[in-house]
Amino acid sequence: MSWRKFRYPGAVLPGKLRAFFAYQNEWIGTSAGTLFSCTMTTIRGIKQDLLRLLLELGKNSHPKEFAALLKEEDGVISELNLLPGTITGSASASIFFDMMPLGTHTAGSAHSHPNGVLRPSNADVNFFPRAGRYHLIIGSPYREHDWRCFTADGEPCDLAVIP
Ligand SMILES: [Zn+2]
Repeated sequence: MSWRKFRYPGAVLPGKLRAFFAYQNEWIGTSAGTLFSCTMTTIRGIKQDLLRLLLELGKNSHPKEFAALLKEEDGVISELNLLPGTITGSASASIFFDMMPLGTHTAGSAHSHPNGVLRPSNADVNFFPRAGRYHLIIGSPYREHDWRCFTADGEPCDLAVIP
């Protein structure tokens, strides 16, 4: 994904400047050369199957972290993109987000905290605003309720689970 894939009639995009413009339902922006987008679709919740899968991924990756981007369809978070090299060992999953170009329909992110702390780290809070609005942290021991959702500014938020 690159700037050139987006039509922006009548103007040349200032490549290295901070810039925002609307593309369909999304705000696309660049900051210091990093392309990111933030969907403006109203998110109604997360699919229960996907949530179960995220908990399962957390369990299977333990004691390592996994990290994924979440995609929405028709306002429901229903898909994930596992980040390449995401089974990270000791490093924070957050650094792998830095290497991931973000596509359209990115609703947010999910990653695991093998230590079970269901709060975003400083690195998480720095990353969140760049990848959508909803950010799930899945914690050990990965039971049905061992997760929390946070907004891009790191505040806890409610996210409905949709069967
Ligand atoms: Zn984290």
